[in-house]
Amino acid sequence: MTDRSATTGPGHPILAFVNTVADDGKTRNRDTFATGGELLAQLRSGGLDIPTVVQPPGQGQLRALRYLREATWSVLSAIATGRTPGREERLVIESAMKGAMADADLALGGTRIGWQPGPLGGLHDTLALCLAGFLASADLDRLRECRRCTHLFLDHGRGTGRRWCSMARCGNRAKAASFRERRRPVA
Ligand SMILES: [Zn+2]
Repeated sequence: MTDRSATTGPGHPILAFVNTVADDGKTRNRDTFATGGELLAQLRSGGLDIPTVVQPPGQGQLRALRYLREATWSVLSAIATGRTPGREERLVIESAMKGAMADADLALGGTRIGWQPGPLGGLHDTLALCLAGFLASADLDRLRECRRCTHLFLDHGRGTGRRWCSMARCGNRAKAASFRERRRPVA
């Protein structure tokens, strides 16, 4: 992962997963990927360490991954905005993390240290373990949701801080919209 992603990206691979929706506003209906292979590539470029044995998910697995993604977003969005996470969504991520942990191997050498997904866990377990690591280690006080869309990121700035997932995706368009708003003649 390059330094660029630390300042302009979401700041953690699990947030890159949550952010695989393309919707402009606060809906979450459009994926950024059409196939399991595309999702795998996006997660790798978001910094997720995916074992090479993991195959691109098929349609059934994609449904399970979307389910995990939406529950994860719901819980993290609540944390970011100071709301209490929903009970159902909390149970979904809790059971995903427990299931992944039950099959995980503890690696203590080589390039990978920590809990590694079991041989049959696939991408779902890799993400569940990544989420467990995030919840245990991340500075959750810095978790933010974009003002314009539903993307989440860790804000490492000072002062008023970062308001947009990225300037290119939301910041510039939000500024253009508020400029048009100010110029609109009073009716
Ligand atoms: Zn945004």
